[in-house]
Amino acid sequence: MENIKVVWFQSGTCTGCTISVLNSSSLKIKNLLLDEIVPGKAVSLVFQSTIMAESGEKVIEVLKEENLKKDFFLVVEGVIPTKDGGIYGKIGEKTFLEILYDLMENCKGIICIGSCSCFGGIPASLPNPTGCKPVKEIMEERKIEKLLINIPGCPPHPDWFLGTITKIIIGAEIKLDELNRPLDFYSRLIHENCPRRPYFDKGAFAKSFSEEGCLYLVGCKGPFTYADCPIREWNGGTNWCIKNNSPCFGCTEPEFIDKNSPLFKRKEIEKIGEQK
Ligand code: SF4
Ligand code: SF4
Repeated sequence: MENIKVVWFQSGTCTGCTISVLNSSSLKIKNLLLDEIVPGKAVSLVFQSTIMAESGEKVIEVLKEENLKKDFFLVVEGVIPTKDGGIYGKIGEKTFLEILYDLMENCKGIICIGSCSCFGGIPASLPNPTGCKPVKEIMEERKIEKLLINIPGCPPHPDWFLGTITKIIIGAEIKLDELNRPLDFYSRLIHENCPRRPYFDKGAFAKSFSEEGCLYLVGCKGPFTYADCPIREWNGGTNWCIKNNSPCFGCTEPEFIDKNSPLFKRKEIEKIGEQK
């Protein structure tokens, strides 16, 4: 059996990304942990603090360089507090920041899951008292150049993450956009495939959430947001934000959340995004 070792490091997180992936319905994490996608090849999840059975010193041992042997992919969930030497987040005696430095130096590639590790998300919004930063910013400061894949979303759809890991397992090429997002999932604007788009085109706008019409005036960020929610839908194809009468908040974009706030207010359209 060929095992692809994965360390899933959780820093400043609400754990929503983990919950999203554990609730996947079509492709399941079990399919990757057992060799059900590619016979003879499986993910070996050696560290994941929400679901691992062990605790304390034994799990801290797992993260030591001599045990990981530079032979692992690093998944980062959550933002990294950096103010005052990073003392606002710790595992054992080390800060998240110190642990991340070691893991980033030694891993084969980094996959950020969720808008916090990708772009800062809610914890890095103003006034950001703990100096939270996304992974890319820390990589640039440390001059670390290696594979970085961003899977943003608050939380991201489980298919976006599991589909990307599957491509790593089968050795397929993963094309990324300028924000390191896989084009497989982030190449289309929400606005482009939205079922309410005909309303937008003829200028029929809803003034409240339960009205028929385009939700642009009540804050929809679909014209600026790349993700395939309208065609993939959530919870096994049951529903998604706009189908549920909620505007898109733009949760897959770096503008989430400061620059997309107030969430229920119209954002001026200077230029609608283009097809990638
Ligand atoms: S603005 Fe939002 S609700 Fe209106 S068509 Fe675009 S994505 Fe759909
Ligand atoms: S519709 Fe918008 S806010 Fe909702 S999950 Fe998709 S990108 Fe995020």
